[in-house]
Amino acid sequence: MNRRGILIVISGFAGTGKGTIVKGLLSKYDDFALSVSMTTRNPRPGEVNGESYFFVTKEEFEKTIKEDGLIEYASYCDNYYGTPKAYVEEQLAKGRNVILEIEIQGALIIKEKFPDSMLLFIMPPSAKELKDRLTGRGTETPDVIAKRMRRAADESEGIEKYDYIVVNDTIDKCVEDTYNIIEAYHMRPVFNEDFINTVRQGLKDINN
Ligand code: 5GP
Repeated sequence: MNRRGILIVISGFAGTGKGTIVKGLLSKYDDFALSVSMTTRNPRPGEVNGESYFFVTKEEFEKTIKEDGLIEYASYCDNYYGTPKAYVEEQLAKGRNVILEIEIQGALIIKEKFPDSMLLFIMPPSAKELKDRLTGRGTETPDVIAKRMRRAADESEGIEKYDYIVVNDTIDKCVEDTYNIIEAYHMRPVFNEDFINTVRQGLKDINN
């Protein structure tokens, strides 16, 4: 039976493992499409253009804004990040769930434009665990870690605006919890109008 796809926004502090959770969802289940964002920041080692992000210049980004090519965009740590419109619209039209891994300003714009979208925030088990994870990566200087921890404190003020939180204690459990929440959200009537109308019509036919 046709179900409408859900626009799923996944946010979380740097270091909570949201990227790993999204990868887990995509590898375990086949009903998800991941939107690739456009950004003006420089690629990090190992990042591939068109896979991690579409890496563009500020001029190209601003041109895309003018052409109404983005569903939402935000400025984060001196760079632009935005969600290209065409891919999301195409995938939703096919009935697929589309995942956006974006920060809170963008998440709130999405909720406004798509009231049926689902906003999910990945939480660390504790503040100390987040700090330990960021330190444990060994890739960031103490300065950068301190900056990210301050940013996390700011971002934490907006968590109540999300529909759900999921705690990333162990990855597998977090992927499963996230999937179960999405499945439950999918049972909302708004995503099942074809099925509801079919049963409704069937009842009318039987009663006539
Ligand atoms: P990073 O530079 O670490 O890849 O991403 C920085 C932040 O930007 C992360 O919180 C990430 O989720 C967010 N982000 C990535 N793509 C987008 C986007 O298209 N729109 C918005 N609003 N945020 C994004």
